[in-house]
Amino acid sequence: MAKPRSPKKFDVAHSYAVRLMQHLVVPTFVIDPQRRVVIWNRACERLTGVAASEVIGTTKHWQAFYGTKRHCLADLVALDLPEQLPELYSEYAARGHNGLGFSAENWCVMPKLGNQLYLAIDAGPIHDEVGNLIAVVETLRDLTDQKRAEMALKELATKDGLTGLSNRRAFDQKLMTEWSRAQRTQQPLSLLFLDVDHFKLFNDRHGHQTGDECLRAVAGVVSRHAWRPLDLATRYGGEEFALVMPEMSSEEACAVAEAIRNAILDLQIAHGAEGAGKHVTLSVGVASHIPAEADDRPDRLLGSADQALYAAKRLGRNRVISAEQMLAEFARLDRDTTEVPGSKSRKSA
Ligand code: GH3
Ligand code: MG
Ligand code: MG
Repeated sequence: MAKPRSPKKFDVAHSYAVRLMQHLVVPTFVIDPQRRVVIWNRACERLTGVAASEVIGTTKHWQAFYGTKRHCLADLVALDLPEQLPELYSEYAARGHNGLGFSAENWCVMPKLGNQLYLAIDAGPIHDEVGNLIAVVETLRDLTDQKRAEMALKELATKDGLTGLSNRRAFDQKLMTEWSRAQRTQQPLSLLFLDVDHFKLFNDRHGHQTGDECLRAVAGVVSRHAWRPLDLATRYGGEEFALVMPEMSSEEACAVAEAIRNAILDLQIAHGAEGAGKHVTLSVGVASHIPAEADDRPDRLLGSADQALYAAKRLGRNRVISAEQMLAEFARLDRDTTEVPGSKSRKSA
């Protein structure tokens, strides 16, 4: 059995511990088993803008971090509610590095300061000799600068600088992910290739800078039509865009493509170069596949959309052609002329 402590010795140790925590450079607060704040150190005051006198003895510590009432990490430890971690934190680990307590990361609104901070949070329980919970200590680290730098890097790696759309790298990743998903769900995956017609002539006529403005306008239209959460609009390269649309049939994808083509016409961007129309137009190739066997590759979808775009160019531009229509159109052309059906790449159109 544990030896009873002398009350005097305990008080000295207690006030020593409190003073130590007050001066720790790590923002720290402590709650008791009833979740009332018992310590709120200076660094925590500096981090939150909330004075110790405002929170000590209350359960209002959440107000230092959030605009609406919710549990803090220390509360989840005190109440032993690891199941609430996923809904409350973007990153988390139950039973942290010491085998007890929780660790988490989160954007906090910091109502008193009025600036959002990305905080790394650790909360651990303190027990007495017989295992009763006597307190929970929460420590905080401000990772806002690192998080912002990380987000900026991610943005750079996945976004196209001119249009703000996702770039080719993001497209490749998305296509792989969605192809695998479609393989599992056996839902059709649709892909649109959209290419500005006679864009070289546009640049020659209006200059490269106006060309850039035109690309930004086209990108805006494409992106507005990728409104479902799983859709991804990307700048595939140059004057070419790609739209990945999971769980969408060929007919639905053609309808989206037509809507985009019409929206571009509505912009009435003057073209007028010899050999081109009065306004800027778009050709679109549409393909939609349900992946077959395990070794079926997304290249098949890419190839079909590419050939459909090639067909749209061959058939006079400013039109939408799906892979199925392409086969029918070329069969008709084949009957009328002696031309070989669309086995070429559009690059040779
Ligand atoms: P088609 O109707 O067959 O697609 O003809 P096109 O002239 O649009 O196609 P082509 O591939 O011959 O030319 C594409 C042009 O796009 C050439 C290139 O200078 C221009 N381009 C590519 N990227 C950019 C860009 O970022 N800004 C500008 N202004 N032009 C670009
Ligand atoms: Mg073009
Ligand atoms: Mg092109």
